Amino acid sequence: MTHIFHRTPRSLPQLALRGEGSFLIDTAGRRYYDGSGGAAVSCLGHAHPEVVEAVIAQIRQLEYAHTSFFTSEPAERLADILVQHSPPGLGHAYFLSSGSEAVETALKMARQYHVEAGEPGRRHNISRLQSYHGNTLGALAIGGHRGRRALYQPLLPESHHVSPCFALHYRQDGESDEAYGTRLADELDQTILALGPKTVSAFIAETVIGATAGAVCAVPGYFPKIRAVCDRHGVLLILDEVMSGMGRTGSYHAFEREDVVPDLLCLAKGLGGGYQPIAAVMAHDKVVDTIVGGSGAFQHGHTYVGHPVACAAALAVQHIVARDGLVQQSAQLGEYLQLRLRERFTDHPHVSDIRGRGLFQAIELVARRGPDSAFEPALQLHAHIKRQALARGLLCYPGGGTIDGERGDHVLLAPPYLTTRAELDAAVDILGAAVDASIAGVA
Ligand code: PLP
Repeated sequence: MTHIFHRTPRSLPQLALRGEGSFLIDTAGRRYYDGSGGAAVSCLGHAHPEVVEAVIAQIRQLEYAHTSFFTSEPAERLADILVQHSPPGLGHAYFLSSGSEAVETALKMARQYHVEAGEPGRRHNISRLQSYHGNTLGALAIGGHRGRRALYQPLLPESHHVSPCFALHYRQDGESDEAYGTRLADELDQTILALGPKTVSAFIAETVIGATAGAVCAVPGYFPKIRAVCDRHGVLLILDEVMSGMGRTGSYHAFEREDVVPDLLCLAKGLGGGYQPIAAVMAHDKVVDTIVGGSGAFQHGHTYVGHPVACAAALAVQHIVARDGLVQQSAQLGEYLQLRLRERFTDHPHVSDIRGRGLFQAIELVARRGPDSAFEPALQLHAHIKRQALARGLLCYPGGGTIDGERGDHVLLAPPYLTTRAELDAAVDILGAAVDASIAGVA
């Protein structure tokens, strides 16, 4: 008997008893390799003693102080660290408790910036089809994933979507990276012009697409072209690195590989590594200076903004990541993981793509080689793979709707940066067995 309204009330989850490094352990003593870090959260794995100690020490010292009265030492130090690791300009951090809150906050910050800059007509936000930016109503509205939006569509504020940058499926035959990126930037340009250039507030995109399509990187040159379009029209560029940021893709910020700097940056999962709920919006000086020089205050806030214990946990996580060179480790182990995935799946008749960056890797599945080759969505192949992997002691993050929100299946892996090559070897073996068993089951 449970009184929790679980995600899947008809098939209740196992009870996780404890964590230990890269593993979670259930009440029957079964060990599960956390090959997805939950949902790309657990960058240090579980029960890291230094983070545990930092959290306990902070609770003893100061468990909570409301930010309308006080700031706190861990919040100030965490902001310092984030700014030190960011390019010039991204000089401010605003701390929240979840990725969805970070996205909502960035959208509101963009809006207030424009109002204070004397452009109150800027009210539209543009994002990409197929995207996920969170589950609260504002974040869900900006997201472009049909399946996730459908039920709540009548509640969602108006938003506008352009094509994602997903060369595998949407690049035209013979089209170069350059031409594809230009076509997508032109589409954004046209969308802004159609809405009325002085009416658009922000464009938001995930730097590397995570949950909805599985570790999809943009083609080289895409983001600089998008940045140029935003600049031409005075539209703010928000990058959502809730999932792909904080070392996950082998660089501190994922955008470092894209040759752009956003105006607003959303961070969450790897920031606190799951030790506490914490997220952040990093804001460019021009945004903050305009608001501070205008009304003087950001009209926003939540009870747990800048929570001292959450900030202390993130501070400890980020201290360890920097001290132990874990961003580089994510890059190196990511290369190894991709190599192992290629060895296992390159000749697999049902794997059409192996992709990713750092410890953010994915495979995409097909019923057969060739065009229009996705498995029937009703088969729910991704759900089978999740169950088969779990039964074999692997936590992975499969998803459906890979291609257009409705068709296609992928499996995302996002292990802790402290994992070992031997653990990755074992995870790839288990994933191979889970994929084969699942396809045999649905075929
Ligand atoms: N943005 C992206 C890119 C995400 O992947 C997620 C969650 O998966 C969110 C926002 C929402 O974060 P949260 O679940 O912490 O609200």
